[in-house]
Amino acid sequence: MAGRKSAPAQKQAAPATRRKPAPRKFADPTVVREIFARLRAANPEPKGELEYVNPYTLLVAVVLSAQATDAGVNKATRALFAAADTPQKMLALGEDRVRDYIKTIGLFRNKAKNVVALSEKLVREHGGIVPRDAAALEALPGVGRKTANVVRNIAFGEATIAVDTHLFRVSNRIPLARGKTPLEVELGLTKIVPPDFALHAHHWLILHGRYVCKARRPECERCPIADLCTSADKTI
Ligand code: SF4
Repeated sequence: MAGRKSAPAQKQAAPATRRKPAPRKFADPTVVREIFARLRAANPEPKGELEYVNPYTLLVAVVLSAQATDAGVNKATRALFAAADTPQKMLALGEDRVRDYIKTIGLFRNKAKNVVALSEKLVREHGGIVPRDAAALEALPGVGRKTANVVRNIAFGEATIAVDTHLFRVSNRIPLARGKTPLEVELGLTKIVPPDFALHAHHWLILHGRYVCKARRPECERCPIADLCTSADKTI
């Protein structure tokens, strides 16, 4: 007798794999505004910590500060800038003497070379004046995007965001704007920082990262934006 064909066993639907939602790339605009409002309230006129006397010495100080502390750079540049505060005077000083002035700073040999070369280019192509234009600044020896952004912000009052190691960490950590590279973070922040905070935004974030939201152990217990931060690194 032909048996009835039994109905094929119904395949059990495989449990839907739960995908973790991708982390948001940007903080909510109201949170961004509140974060900057609190950082501004705590420090209305933030300043960089490098010492300089004019746009040229600012440029040199920023070039010297790569992989060095601001305090270490200031120690060396006080005497250097007393001897040479213009590109012409720096050229007259010459690479050997520049090297002597800055020998306490890391990578001093290469930096001395760059300081003299950028001074020479400033004199030759810009009449000894620091250009305001980003491309012209970045064409100077030893000057990258971050250095150009610092100079444009501090010397010329442009609302640039210079991404250093502190700012990169803090922006990804809170998060404000997430990014895998300094450029991604810079462009992300440029999109979300409200215009009334744009000029000082990078100072506030750098200082926050340097003194509160430190790399190894962020001091969340004294952080003014702790309730707005969603970082896994939070210690409270
Ligand atoms: S709560 Fe902690 S991790 Fe978050 S921003 Fe403040 S210091 Fe940084």
